[in-house]
Amino acid sequence: MVTKEIVHHKDLLEWCWAADDELIPKPFFTSCYLLDGVLIDTGAPKGQLDFTSFIKELLTTNSVSKCLITHTHEDHIGGTHVLSEEFEIPLYASVEALPLLETASNYVYAEYRDLYWGSGLHSVNAQPIPTKIQTKSQNYELKVLSVPGHAPDQIAFIESEQEWAFVADAVLPKYQVLFGHTCNIQEDIALIYDSIRKIFDATEGMDNLKIFVSGKGVFNGRNYIKKRLEEITTLHNDVHGYKLKKLAPEQILEEMFGGEGIMGIMTNGELSHLNLINSLYQWNA
Ligand SMILES: [Zn+2]
Repeated sequence: MVTKEIVHHKDLLEWCWAADDELIPKPFFTSCYLLDGVLIDTGAPKGQLDFTSFIKELLTTNSVSKCLITHTHEDHIGGTHVLSEEFEIPLYASVEALPLLETASNYVYAEYRDLYWGSGLHSVNAQPIPTKIQTKSQNYELKVLSVPGHAPDQIAFIESEQEWAFVADAVLPKYQVLFGHTCNIQEDIALIYDSIRKIFDATEGMDNLKIFVSGKGVFNGRNYIKKRLEEITTLHNDVHGYKLKKLAPEQILEEMFGGEGIMGIMTNGELSHLNLINSLYQWNA
């Protein structure tokens, strides 16, 4: 396994984990953050032992009062039971996430995801997250934003004083493929756009904004968010231009991407250009 720890600030640590398998060309990370006694997310099921070691080590010098779950995809909730059962650290998540966490052991997904993240999620109980979270020293306050689209239960956190946004998977660096088709993750580009817009509006006036994207790093400035909105608008305009000319989504796929990409083929259409086009096609903004 590949792990790394990044100290972003004296009170903010990022722990990254990736599987290492000869079938994986380069590490594909997921992140947890520790902000002044508050954890965000718990890594993947395949990383449970590494996560447990990380928490044990943390607890020798820190106390952890709670863990906030951004959303219930397997690369964010792999260690929830470790926290709640072994360390008795309470979990908080959106109201939409609670029933999904309670039934997480039934969560099934395709082999390609198993390769990256592993399987064997545990069902856990969490509490509904309040709209604001104070950290241990009361020096930081996380404002909770509902940001559905990538997942219906997803939330993001804004620390206004520090100008930090913890967006998990709500603002990805590029929108070229979406989860959908037969996948249990059904992404919706219209909702993704609205949620990115919500994060953009909630960070108004933050000239030194840092955006923490799970596994992908830290991106600087609201312009990063604005660019994603512009890119999605361009994609939407392109798809609807073809729709006006009576092209079907499969024909638009040929025009825009020259056919399905390697990702779409390898995932049997679960993570594909066609899912993105279908979602843009159905979005009548
Ligand atoms: Zn996700």
